Amino acid sequence: VKESGKNDCMLYSDSWSNSSLERLTLQHEMYRAIQRCEFVLHYQPQYDLGSGTMVGVEALVRWNHPQRGMIPPGSFIPLAEESGMIVQIGDWVLEEACRQNKAWQEAGLPSIPVSVNLSIRQFVQNDLASKVSDVLTRTGLDPKYLDLEITESMTMDVSHVSRCLLDLTELGVNISVDDFGTGYSSFHYLKNFPIDRLKIDRSFVRDIQQDPNDAEIVAAIIAMAHNLNIQVIAEGVETEGQMEFLRKHKCDEMQGFFWSPPVSSDNIEQMLTPGYV
Ligand code: C2E
Ligand code: CA
Ligand code: CA
Ligand code: CA
Repeated sequence: VKESGKNDCMLYSDSWSNSSLERLTLQHEMYRAIQRCEFVLHYQPQYDLGSGTMVGVEALVRWNHPQRGMIPPGSFIPLAEESGMIVQIGDWVLEEACRQNKAWQEAGLPSIPVSVNLSIRQFVQNDLASKVSDVLTRTGLDPKYLDLEITESMTMDVSHVSRCLLDLTELGVNISVDDFGTGYSSFHYLKNFPIDRLKIDRSFVRDIQQDPNDAEIVAAIIAMAHNLNIQVIAEGVETEGQMEFLRKHKCDEMQGFFWSPPVSSDNIEQMLTPGYV
């Protein structure tokens, strides 16, 4: 026990010093990656629970690092947010997602919205709505095929975000609240912001069949959202049982490994092609 305690301690201090060097290195490499366009988007399908058809995709960024290989967003987005580089990365993600969606449409595939994750940092700048408007003009994407996912943040300025969201809504894009239920101000969001859709966080979906409290919470979120004219999508759906529960409670859409993980744009193209099974 003593020995393993000591090892833990050494491991801890090792990883601590590694991680501050690692962070600096990553930060430097990330700056370079923006110049060299090392980021790629994968897309996770979103399905209508009634008909089972693909009704949207969520764009999820990855960093295709020349030495380290494909780095998942969880390993660099927090650092990008801390350093402010998320703004440049986010600009690229937005433009690329819109460009790709327009390209699918021009290839004659069914038109579906693409969801793009926004960081709170992107709201802090004053020109988010005009940036989005410029991207839509440049790519030629109809605003109704763009959905912006926002999350709660305790540090945000409510009136500023509210103004920003109204400007975005006026452009004709959709607004979704991501990870709904995990923050401190979920209801505040619904009350004050023009929200089209909420995404039930996967922590509630996970135990939907084992935990009666989670089942009640999810059923209540769906009912409440519908009373407020807000669409509901459940994320992290991994089993048929979860899907059946959601369908029974009239959840509108679902996203999760049960039907598809995030995949490349080529794969989405195939999945959108009529006759795909
Ligand atoms: P998120 O927005 O909640 O995205 C959903 C995450 O859950 C994705 O992880 C997806 O692969 C994963 N997921 C989907 N279905 C399932 C499932 O059935 N089970 C489980 N266990 N997981 C599932 P990913 O791609 O690693 O992204 C992680 C997070 O990184 C995202 O969480 C989002 O917060 C952030 N992120 C990704 N792309 C961007 C981006 O372009 N901008 C910003 N600001 N954040 C991003
Ligand atoms: Ca999301
Ligand atoms: Ca989410
Ligand atoms: Ca989440």
